[in-house]
Formats: sequence, structure tokens, C-alpha cells
Amino acid sequence: MAEVKSTCCYCGVGCGVIIETAENKGKIEVTGVRGDPDHPANFGRLCSKGSTLHLTANPSLQMQARLGSPAICKTRGEEPTDVSWTEAIQTVAQKFANIIKEHGPESVGIYVSGQLLTEDYYIFNKLMKGLIGSNNIDTNSRLCMSSAVAGYKQTLGMDAPPCCYEDIDLASTIFITGSNTAFAHPILYRRLEDARKNNPDLKVIVVDPRKTDTAKEADLYLQIQPGTDVALYHGMLYIMLWEKWIDESYISSYTADFDALRDLVRDFTPKAVSQICGINEKDLFQAAQWFATSPATLSMYCQGLNQSASGTAKNAALVNLHLATGQIGKAGAGPFSLTGQPNAMGGREVGGLANLLSAHRDLANAEHRAEVADLWGVHSVPEKPGLSAIPMFEALRTEKLKAIWIVCTNPAQSMPDLNAVHEGLSKAEFVVVQEAYAHTATTLYADVLLPATTWAEKVGTVTNSERRISKVNPAIDPYASAKHDWQIALEIGVALEALLPGNRKEGTSTLFPYAGPEDIWNEHRESTAGRDLDITGLSYKILEERGPQQWPMPKGDFFGKKRLYENGVFPTKDKKAHFIAAPYKATAESVDARYPFALNTGRLRDQWHGMSRTGTIATLYGHSPEPCVELSPKDAGRMNLANGDLVHVTSRRGSEIFPIKVSDDIASSQAFIAMHWGSEFISGAAGKTPGRGVNGLTCNMIDPVSGQPELKHSAVKILPA
Ligand code: SF4
Repeated sequence: MAEVKSTCCYCGVGCGVIIETAENKGKIEVTGVRGDPDHPANFGRLCSKGSTLHLTANPSLQMQARLGSPAICKTRGEEPTDVSWTEAIQTVAQKFANIIKEHGPESVGIYVSGQLLTEDYYIFNKLMKGLIGSNNIDTNSRLCMSSAVAGYKQTLGMDAPPCCYEDIDLASTIFITGSNTAFAHPILYRRLEDARKNNPDLKVIVVDPRKTDTAKEADLYLQIQPGTDVALYHGMLYIMLWEKWIDESYISSYTADFDALRDLVRDFTPKAVSQICGINEKDLFQAAQWFATSPATLSMYCQGLNQSASGTAKNAALVNLHLATGQIGKAGAGPFSLTGQPNAMGGREVGGLANLLSAHRDLANAEHRAEVADLWGVHSVPEKPGLSAIPMFEALRTEKLKAIWIVCTNPAQSMPDLNAVHEGLSKAEFVVVQEAYAHTATTLYADVLLPATTWAEKVGTVTNSERRISKVNPAIDPYASAKHDWQIALEIGVALEALLPGNRKEGTSTLFPYAGPEDIWNEHRESTAGRDLDITGLSYKILEERGPQQWPMPKGDFFGKKRLYENGVFPTKDKKAHFIAAPYKATAESVDARYPFALNTGRLRDQWHGMSRTGTIATLYGHSPEPCVELSPKDAGRMNLANGDLVHVTSRRGSEIFPIKVSDDIASSQAFIAMHWGSEFISGAAGKTPGRGVNGLTCNMIDPVSGQPELKHSAVKILPA
């Protein structure tokens, strides 16, 4: 038996794992997994998903078949034919080059994933922005954290979560808003439970339209109406101002633009806010008091804020509260976004989104573009922002985008308004799907399938919610002829270099001079010199020897930095944090007489994303065995429905059939469907199969700043089937 230290591939907590392997008939196989007691994210603990990871790593045990060979579909949707890697690489490179020559660099796109490692992300970003010369690369992290990014940048100057997990132990009030932490970030929730045991005076406030397991344990629970978060935060600030609980000294020393916000919140009286949010004034007052007067207040938040057409405003309005009360830059305090995916942070660090550049540089900044062009050895990096996730698939539908290369993600299940996404994929001239798994909703659209390695086979790095970079290490060989994601990108990149007129400067022989992921990571590391996320003091060797480290960790530092902004200096032009007079807007799609239910979506405790991995493990179905729509007893009773009865759930975009689950956790006129179940589990309207899953119903309206869609709220009608 052998053991390899690595990192869990599920969520942004980023727990350390020890993978156990043994030889079986001459082959090394994964036999077990346990928490790494030395990893500072989890100290040996694992949740239900993490502790069953080993069951996903043996192809013989998997329900979901792995993709083992490159393949080409002569006719889309028909059985693909296996081909050699050489043929697959040449086919992709030639087709992309032809389309680019005929329609220009903006006619192609790459859609990647927060599940990729930082090294993978880096090379895809360079390939698109440096070699092809377009910024049309975006990621499923757009659906996850982009509003948190925009909120941090507007207020604090940089996309940098200022807190660390230790702050959970040190806080005296924890304000959980838009996060079912007990399900989505279970190991952090265990830490919070420990903190409560150690400090019985710790106050936990939970804000959520749904009475989640997290909400049930709160000292104060605010069951707000969907989408009213900004009004709630402004209302809390109104009370803080009235009661003189704000920190005038912090505001005058370290912040700017408070006057406009103070003027704005005058309208958010307790009476008005209690009506907008559907909570009582006493609870609103209590929340404001605990938040402002506690020695250290930590906010923890996730998709309830981000997946909204007002996501940036929600994030900024929450950060406002921390700045107004000085609850930032000290132990146990600050606004702490909990990252959904395991490496959404690493993707942002290398600039792997349509509007970002390497090392938190901005596309709109000419100096930043020149720095990156220099680093990469290319003449220029294009200025025009690329297509973000929702517009990218819309551009396929309108045939402005001709080709797409989809990597390590399943947009045909995970994007909102799936009927439009499927139409776009059908119309695409050329679709490449790079995947570990053979049968996802997206592989059905592939013209070329490229088999990729996955967890337990890959090597590289990921960054978790507290800016901590951890190594991911391989325990077994790649499955069949699968290759690493960075390796596939490199080989197609090199083939494309030979076909496209070069953006390369003289003296740059190739944009992809890498023998392995460490070379890629070292190039990324150098790009961070002098930036807010400077990691020039870090190396693969240090990560192995001293363990995972938080950024920044510039040259000369022995450890990374625990928390940011302790000196009150922010990475903005005037070095101050900025208040944002964030407008309160109702949800993008209102409920009305035809569509009277507010549909909310979210995670279950034991499933992950589209279930390509967790869906293969029988024990993970014990908690929630099948998809359902949760309804309040009042609504179920009104329709004379009982548990298990089938209903049509219909939005303006589609209709699906679900059994109902009657639940006291749901407020009347609201409904909840878990995000995980796809077409293989759900019937379409009138029993037509397959359905699309919940995203056949969801709304694709986006936040104007972050581009993140409002996955958390759609108006639907629900009728007995
Ligand atoms: Fe994995 Fe997240 Fe569970 Fe930790 S909390 S074991 S990272 S899924």
C-alpha cells in the first residue's frame, strides 16, 4: 500500500486528502481516502463527498463511463469513431485555424471550468488571448463567483478575499447570508460548530429565503423574501447610523465615498425594509446591533448573493457594512466569500475569464495588456473584452460564434435557460469537448471528443477560499489514453502556431515551451511579481515541504499572509476602500398571476454539480434519493397534493415534471429544486423525455457588472401533472 497527499476536487474549502493505493493485477488502484491531518483547511476532516472520493477514482466501480480515446463524430449525435491523438489534435487545430482565417479570431471561443487546475487555466488563457488573439475565453466560474469578484473590486480594489478560516474561530458574530454552509461547505460548518462550543457567546445570524439546515441552527434567522438582500443591508446600515454604531474613525481614515451611501440609505427605514424583506423590525434591529457592536464580525456568503442579476450590488452592499463598522482587517472580522468550485480562485489568479488578464491585471488597462504581451512574447493582447459565459452560448445560437472548445464542464446541463443553450450547441459549426467522462449532456454535441485525466491522475495546484494554494498530486496513471488538460491545450496550441499567422514576437519560438505543469506554474508565478497576489516566494518544492500557503507570499517571506488590509491600506488609486451606493433592485423576473411561484435552486448535502462524479456512488443517494420540487404545506394543501405527487413546473422558458416534497423549510409561494439532477432523471413537459433538469426552467438574465446569471430566482407556475 502507498499513500499520496493531494487535495479534494469538490469545493472551495480545499481540504487536504491522503489517497491510499494498492497494486491489483500489476496496476496501481485507489483503495481509500482520508483527511490529511496536516492540511490547515480541514485538519484531517472530510465531508460525505470528500470521504467517498476513492469510489470515484476506479473506472471499474464507476457507473459513469470514462472517455478513454480521442474520437470524432462524422455526424453529430451518432456514435463517435475512435481516432489517434495525432488525428484528433490536427483536426481541432485545422478546423479552428480555418474558422479563424475565414471569420476572424472572435468567431471561436473556449469555455473552461473552476474544476481545472491553475496550470491548465493558465495555458488555455494564453492560447486564446496570446496566440489566437481574442478574449473569448470564459469559465463556469462565471456562474459561481463573478459577482463576488466584482463586489471586492468595486469596494476593496482587488479580487482578494481578505479573511482566513481561522477567523471562524475568532469571530464573536458570524453573519451567514446567501449560503447554506452546512451543505455547501460542510467542513467550514464543522469549524463553526466547534467555535460555538468553545465560545457560547458567539452569535450566528443566518439570512436566507429558505429555512436551511444552516438557518435552523442560527441564533437569529432572517427569512427574507428572495432577492431583497440589498434592502436588508441598507436597512441595517440605517439603524447603525441612527444608533451611532458606525466606526467614524475607520470611515474617515481608510475609506471614501461614504456620503453618497448615507444619503441613499435614508430611504431604507426599518418599516420600509421590514415590508420589502418580509421580516419584523425587531429582528432587523437585532441583526444590525450584533453585526455592528460585536468585537469581531465575520460575514460568510456564497451563491445567494452571487447568482443574481444584482449580484455585484449585493456583494458591495455587504462589504459596505464591514467598512462602516470597521469590521475588516482584524482577527475574526471581514467579508468572506466562500468559493463554490475547488479552483475558481486559481482561474481568476491567472486571468482565465473574458475580462481579466494574468495576475489580477485588467484588460481595460493598456499598461497591463503591454505587460502581459511582454511576458508571453507576443505583439499584443486584444483590448476588447471577450464573450462571457451567457453571451458566449447566445452567440452560438445567433451563429456569430462558429466554434467552441468546452473543457471539463457540462454546460448542456449547468447553464441557465437550457433550451437556448442546446439550440446554440446544435447550431455551432464545430464543437470540441474535452472531458473525463463519456456520457454528459454536452458530449452529445461534440464533433471531436478529447479524453482528459481527472482527480487522482493529475498534478498541479489549486487555490481555496482563503487564498491558500495547495498541491494536487497523482496517485494513479491516466485512464486509458487520457491526457492531462494542460497537455492537450499545449499540443493543440503548438499545432495552431504552425497554422496561424503569428502574434509571436521575433525571438519567441513557441508560446508553449513547457515540459510539465511546474514550468507553467513558474511562468505564472513570475507574472505575479509586484501584484497583490505576489507569490514569487513560493515554489512547488516549498508547497511540498512547508505545506499549502496563502497568497501573497513575495520573495523573502517564509509563510503566506493570513489576512489582508490589517494596515487599512487598500489596493486602490487613493489607497482607500470605497463605499458603493448600491441600488436595490427587485429580482430580474417578477412573479405574477401567471407565474406565481419564486423558484430557488441550490445544492444538496451529498451531491456535487451535475453528479458526473458523486452520482456514481450509491451511499450518496441516502440523503436525497431523487429529484423533487419542495413546496410549503400551505401550497401543497391548496392544490390537494401530497409527498410524491407529480407536478408540472413551468417557467417562461420550459416545463419539467417533478414529484413534490412538502417541506416546512419553504415559505408559501416559493419552491426549491436542487441543481444536480439532469435530463437522465427528469421528464420534460407532458411526459416527453428527456427533460432538461431545473435549468430548463431557470432564467439567464445577468448582472450588468459581473455577467453572472440569476440562477437563484425564476418565476414559475406549478400545476398537478
Ligand atoms: Fe471536499 Fe469540500 Fe467536503 Fe472538503 S468540504 S471534503 S473540499 S467537498
